[in-house]
Amino acid sequence: MDYSKFDLVVVGAGFYGATVAERMAKKGKKVLVVDRRDHVAGNAYSYRDKKTGIEIHKYGSHIFHTESDEVWDYITQFTEFNDYIHTVPTRHDGKLYPMPINLDTINLLYGTNMDAEEAEKFVAAEAEKAGIKNPKNFEEKGISLVGEKLYTTFIKNYSEKQWSTSAENLSADILSRIPVRYSHDDRYFMTAKHQGIPVDGYGKIVEKMLDNENITLKLSTSFVEIMDELPIEMQIIYCGQVDELLDYELGVLPYRSLRFEAEWVDETTPEGADSKLGHAVINEADADVAYTRTHFYKYYQIHEPEVLSQPKSYTVREYPADFVRGGEAYYPINNAENENLYAQYVELLKDRYPNITLGGRLGAYRYWDMDVAILNALNFVKSLE
Ligand SMILES: Cc1cc2nc3c(=O)[nH]c(=O)nc-3n(C[C@H](O)[C@H](O)[C@H](O)COP(=O)(O)OP(=O)(O)OC[C@H]3O[C@@H](n4cnc5c(N)ncnc54)[C@H](O)[C@@H]3O)c2cc1C
Repeated sequence: MDYSKFDLVVVGAGFYGATVAERMAKKGKKVLVVDRRDHVAGNAYSYRDKKTGIEIHKYGSHIFHTESDEVWDYITQFTEFNDYIHTVPTRHDGKLYPMPINLDTINLLYGTNMDAEEAEKFVAAEAEKAGIKNPKNFEEKGISLVGEKLYTTFIKNYSEKQWSTSAENLSADILSRIPVRYSHDDRYFMTAKHQGIPVDGYGKIVEKMLDNENITLKLSTSFVEIMDELPIEMQIIYCGQVDELLDYELGVLPYRSLRFEAEWVDETTPEGADSKLGHAVINEADADVAYTRTHFYKYYQIHEPEVLSQPKSYTVREYPADFVRGGEAYYPINNAENENLYAQYVELLKDRYPNITLGGRLGAYRYWDMDVAILNALNFVKSLE
């Protein structure tokens, strides 16, 4: 390929890279987008199962939600969204509880019938009872915020599974607050001004964003495969991991990872009973259940009766996993030590490849929701003007 015809190379066809490519192409720039995966949309990728019509979220449930009108106006140029509002019950001892903790969660757990004021006083008294003034770790912090029972039932086991260690080994800083609502509101994204699921899925959005004569898309291609062939002055937006790019010279930037186990279930059989509950996601609070979440993607398609009414359901169990070099990097571990390592990598990159700009959640070593990835990409393009 003659790479000299491009003005810009974007590595990564996730929402960040796709937004940069789309905006730059609109300005008349010739953009090459490469991604090592065989599909676009990065971790948000979803595709439709042909037999059942179920939209499968390949890397776990993705719900679009944002408080930004700018992001919403931008993304709705490429898709319509349904009006799905996300709620996530948490399962404990076979029973479902609203999560984040609300008035109903508290009354169900304690077998009470408190009103908002009573519940607020009650939780404050429970927290006080523990007598923890200066929490030394995650566990003490959790108990000091909501009391022992709420913490142990809903926070402790889930977090220990997520981090694969005892809550006593985790820093108190990870847990700045535990949201408790003294109302019946069970919306997961309470402050989202806009939310929904794209009616044709996430893969189709990004395909549409990249459908521009100024954009060339090269899938199943890792950056290292083309790096040496690019003209030396080529501007590169790199939405991958900086430690990988620099051959782990300073060490590995730590992440938590995930493993997904999927199966097709028939809702008319006992194995399908969970899916029949009708929730898109259920959190699993108990220690004896090794996975943290169960996903039933069909329940995002709230206006597709032909999908909802058929007996087949695609069920996915999400297991937290240790991250190994070269594996799937999902959640950065943003403590002071790792931030410092990241900063050193950024300096090294500036020295060695001044034409490479880091982008996207991997490049930034940050957890970003999709709307944040899009907003940051829009701002990046504006900064070039
Ligand atoms: C389990 C999970 C659930 C989530 N749920 C939600 C949700 O409900 N709502 C929400 O808003 N957000 C959610 N997110 C966050 C969402 O996935 C991210 O915001 C979004 O994917 C960020 O887009 P990005 O372009 O920055 O990165 P990515 O989507 O990760 O895209 C980066 C792309 O770069 C490619 N790449 C990396 N390195 C190279 C290389 N060297 N060569 C070639 N290609 C490379 C990768 O293959 C990838 O396709 C979730 C994330 C996870 C992990």
